[in-house]
Amino acid sequence: MLQNCRPRSNCRYTTIMLNPCYLCRMAKFFLRKKIGDRVVNGHPWIFANELGDSEGECAPGDIVEVYSYNGSFVGKGYVNPESQIRIRLLTRHKNEKIDEGYFYNRIKEAWDYRRRIGYTENCRLIFGEADKLPALIIDKFNDYFVIQTLALGMDIWKGAIVEALERIFTPKGIYERNDVPVRELEGMVQQKGFLSVPFDTNIIINENGLKFHVDIENGQKTGYFLDQQDNRRAIEHIVKGADVLEAFCYTGTFSLHAAHYGAKNVLGLDISEHAVATARRNASLNGYDEVCKFEAVNAFDVLKQSAKDGKKYDVVMLDPPAFTKSRENIQKAVTGYKEINLRAMKLTKPGGFLVTASCTNLVPPQMFLDTIAAAAKDAHRSLRQVCWQTQSADHPIVWHIPTTQYLKFLIVQVM
Ligand code: SAH
Repeated sequence: MLQNCRPRSNCRYTTIMLNPCYLCRMAKFFLRKKIGDRVVNGHPWIFANELGDSEGECAPGDIVEVYSYNGSFVGKGYVNPESQIRIRLLTRHKNEKIDEGYFYNRIKEAWDYRRRIGYTENCRLIFGEADKLPALIIDKFNDYFVIQTLALGMDIWKGAIVEALERIFTPKGIYERNDVPVRELEGMVQQKGFLSVPFDTNIIINENGLKFHVDIENGQKTGYFLDQQDNRRAIEHIVKGADVLEAFCYTGTFSLHAAHYGAKNVLGLDISEHAVATARRNASLNGYDEVCKFEAVNAFDVLKQSAKDGKKYDVVMLDPPAFTKSRENIQKAVTGYKEINLRAMKLTKPGGFLVTASCTNLVPPQMFLDTIAAAAKDAHRSLRQVCWQTQSADHPIVWHIPTTQYLKFLIVQVM
């Protein structure tokens, strides 16, 4: 394997060898004849079992060319022999070079798109495959940027990505939140730290007229769940004068929106002490300490006990973490959703509202709706749909990449 010739665009041998450098001749991979149309139709992932012959040598993370079984060009992308997703395509254009300029152009395009659809202050700037940058996540919190490079072939380009951000935004800070187990599947270590000059990682962002503390270094994921930013506004009309319960509240973002939109009392529950401490600070920051109370508890237990005790709320909100990342456990995840939603319905006054979400990628929208329907049946309640939507549009859904649609968000009146 060749380890000493990277990045390809800056190959240090080109000046002393014949041009093009023989070390830089990209390896070629050929798709098997009998694979589905997924890749040809635009999906960027190529699984190990979809590949047949190959020509040339390559190192993990290298850019390689992909051809169909009969030799027509399919695209270029990065390879990792350690990963089940063996190649992730970056371009379908044979002449497009994968170099620093490629990353600059993609990030600039993604930013132009976010501005075009109205997401400027805080947004998911790069949503991986949906922005033609597989396994790259970048969240923009005003002048601060949080990066995750979740595959080796993307991690190699971290320097180019940081440089592009600096050129486009002149950020106040860039931070790497690569403390995610999925990196180990790619043979990488988990790590986090500054990619710019160090800065205070406790920042405050504005959203829908409220302020929120975001702990970039120690918060969950990139520090804040931007994917629910539009859904938080969707509760505006149902919470006026209401007694509200929010389970899995993290830093209290939905709870504070409820207070802001006129709720009488809000109780937020989360198992994380750190999240609850931040939720309380968020309540103070917005002047809602009297309306919003938060408790660090296991929400599954409290939902169960409160339902037994016959407690009732005008509005119950649920936004649990993903219940499974593996296909074998989909049924368990569905059972989990049914259970918590059933309990939440029991806690909802007749005519009150259930706000419920699921971020489990492996539970498709219809399966989630069917699960809620099954819960309603068992709870002997009927439902009237108020709102059914997905993640905010700064996390674009690309129609030929089904995994880009992952969030389910539902508001129903519980009769
Ligand atoms: N709605 C939030 C995001 C919620 S993420 C927002 O928009 O900001 C899911 C939350 O569930 C996390 O904060 C996690 O700490 C919490 N959680 C996980 N297991 C839990 C449990 N058993 N009980 C209560 N909270 C739990």
